[in-house]
Amino acid sequence: MAALTLMRLAGLSGAALPLAAATLFVGAALAKSPKLPETVPVPVLNQSQPAQKDAPADVPLPEPRPADAPKPDQPATNEPSQKSGQHKDPRPEPSANAPRPTEKPTEAEPEAQPPPIAPQPPEKPAEAQEEKMLPDPRSADLPEGKMPDEELACRRRLKSMGVDFEEHKPEHNPEIGCSIPYPIMLKTLGKSIAIGPQTELNCEMAEAAARFAADVIQPAAKAEFGADLKSISQASAFVCRPRNGTRKLSEHAFGNALDISSFTLSDGKKIEIGPAPPEKDGKFLNAVRKAACGPFKTVLGPGADADHALHFHLDLEPRRHHGTFCQ
Ligand SMILES: [Zn+2]
Repeated sequence: MAALTLMRLAGLSGAALPLAAATLFVGAALAKSPKLPETVPVPVLNQSQPAQKDAPADVPLPEPRPADAPKPDQPATNEPSQKSGQHKDPRPEPSANAPRPTEKPTEAEPEAQPPPIAPQPPEKPAEAQEEKMLPDPRSADLPEGKMPDEELACRRRLKSMGVDFEEHKPEHNPEIGCSIPYPIMLKTLGKSIAIGPQTELNCEMAEAAARFAADVIQPAAKAEFGADLKSISQASAFVCRPRNGTRKLSEHAFGNALDISSFTLSDGKKIEIGPAPPEKDGKFLNAVRKAACGPFKTVLGPGADADHALHFHLDLEPRRHHGTFCQ
């Protein structure tokens, strides 16, 4: 085909065909051999980009190359992009996911901090140990075969003041530490001053209460209200318990404290201890409370703390240098 075409183009006749065809065929063959490689380079370009088989070779070339550039900058995100393919859509997704894994570990760090707080539990057993009562030498006091002279003398003084009382069996609680070797049960604080209900105290405290009632409360009632003190209502006398909120035994645990909640006068008037008493009652109560500091070593009442909002606490707690604590 190529030889005939060349001969026709050259205008050669059929007579000269054999020689001409032979020479032209050789020449054409020689001429074609260098032309063939010129058309070949096209597939060579396609082989440089084998991944883009579907798309035409010329169009997609510039686009994927700039997109491929960020990949080496984000080595961690290359894996999901390669799995999903080389299309443009999956590429922004790994970049958006990239900050998320960094945020999660930062959130996990504060969550991992709470464990250091764990050391607190050992503190709780330490507090539980503090609940154990502090030792008090009076806890070991036990009655002897014969009542001591000081106890006998105390009872003689009570009788001389007109106090009516009964002996009570000894109090002794080794577990808590409460103890009264020679307790008495008061029926009155004097010839005309009753006290109730059942008021169990040690004799020294009973005597202090009786003297205070006769020497301070009775005159104060007479001066403020023009009436006599008829009775005293007590909220606590002997109670086997620790002091509230502490590991120390209360003076009540030794019959050494008395809580007074109200006074009743001969005209029937009742004066109750509280945070906001009537003016006249408050004046009387303040006078009694102030005078109690001294005869009693501890005086507490409304304003001291929540536990003493409704009564006067009076006790004979032994303190160094005969100190007092009055609030
Ligand atoms: Zn008390």
